[in-house]
Amino acid sequence: MSGPDAQTKMQFLFALRSKGVTDARVLNAMEEIDRGPFVRGIFADRAYEDMPLPIACGQTISQPSVVGIMTQALQVNPRDKVLEVGTGSGYQAAILSKLARRVYTVERHARLVREAQEIFQALQLVNITTMTADGSFGLPDQAPFDRIIVTAAAEDPPGPLLAQLKIGGIMVVPVGQSDAVQTLIRVRRSESGFDYDEIRPVRFVPLLEGLGKDG
Ligand code: SAH
Repeated sequence: MSGPDAQTKMQFLFALRSKGVTDARVLNAMEEIDRGPFVRGIFADRAYEDMPLPIACGQTISQPSVVGIMTQALQVNPRDKVLEVGTGSGYQAAILSKLARRVYTVERHARLVREAQEIFQALQLVNITTMTADGSFGLPDQAPFDRIIVTAAAEDPPGPLLAQLKIGGIMVVPVGQSDAVQTLIRVRRSESGFDYDEIRPVRFVPLLEGLGKDG
């Protein structure tokens, strides 16, 4: 894994900044984690473009600037325990691992989990725990979480995930009725309930029920 050359890396970071990723910790984490290994096959040479790209099982690795904006909106602290629903390539989880104490990431396709795990091991990202499961139920055994990030779109924030968010916790999730356009929202849990704010329009693959059939 040689990583991008200096100019490619500079362009990658410039694109992030110009699209609103300004948080220094987030930018550092994104500079540290090479997107290359997470993009396999014929699209590998486009890993440093600010574009979503196809990965196995008909899924996508998110656009880097969207990863940056979501990570920034999550306001992760170094002591936080974070849950990600939708491991996909593992790229988002790898970035979170640089910012949080521990990251649990759940994916319904076993193959994607295996491939992501291989990369985490190669990069020695030892604070990530992967799980093949339907993440809309969260991880009751590990709850509650300081932060929850969902990288697939639901009609509404799933109830079990809201229930597994700590008081003072933050969840970032794309919500919407259609596949074409959704809204990225941030949910904050306080003593008295949940506050919601809209971050921006986004487009994600849908949050599906049950396990994927690829094995
Ligand atoms: N965070 C990923 C992008 C993921 S794309 C990355 O950095 O590459 C969304 C992922 O969510 C897909 O891999 C899809 O299989 C997964 N997914 C959809 N519904 C799910 C569910 N109910 N539980 C767990 N994963 C789910």
